Amino acid sequence: MFLDPVYFLFIAPAVLLAIYAQVRVKSTYHEASQIPTRGGLTGAEAARRLLDADGLTNVRVEPVDGFLSDHYDPRSETLRLSPDVFEGRSLAAVGIAAHEAGHALQKAHHYGPLAIRNGLVPLASTGSQISFVLFSIGLVLSAASGLGRAMLLASIALFTISVLFQLVNLPVEFDASRRAKLVLVQNGIISADELQPVNRVLSAAALTYVAATLSAIMQLLYFLWRAGLLSSRRD
Ligand SMILES: [Zn+2]
Repeated sequence: MFLDPVYFLFIAPAVLLAIYAQVRVKSTYHEASQIPTRGGLTGAEAARRLLDADGLTNVRVEPVDGFLSDHYDPRSETLRLSPDVFEGRSLAAVGIAAHEAGHALQKAHHYGPLAIRNGLVPLASTGSQISFVLFSIGLVLSAASGLGRAMLLASIALFTISVLFQLVNLPVEFDASRRAKLVLVQNGIISADELQPVNRVLSAAALTYVAATLSAIMQLLYFLWRAGLLSSRRD
């Protein structure tokens, strides 16, 4: 199926958007990492202050290797910040650190979509891998056979969970960035006139999640089309 030119037609727009988003992330990050904050805090110090201000003294802030590898781990309640963000004193560093702190704030304030997203994580990651295998076997057996059709439908059902994950992930990511910008200013880490470069980095990062969602939707549509479920044609 990966040699099917129609497959590339389905996913091409999402791939192009993903490439564009990556370029935007790199360029906006580079730009904002050249601008020091007037407050002078590092990303790690900013995250610590934002967490403490909300009473989240138990959430740890740790460095992690990699470029833009920053994330919040809800299980161990840890923010892991890449070296440039952890030590950096730029608008890019505090913006990304605040976004990750935003996820910890979401958890503390029982933000609904975050709980749904975290619940879907195990199903979505293994489900999408299994669905590709099932779908390929289903195609070989052909949709005309009972078993082939059952496998195609099962793979489509499994992949739908991945699409749901991506759809729920969007509000989670947008909300984390919204909180980040708000608390950065409220806690005096940056002032309102320093927000624009932060906004550009976080918007570019959000675009990568939009691309991932579009990619999952187009993948699902391809599965439906290939399984013959998009047309009323019977053959
Ligand atoms: Zn995030």
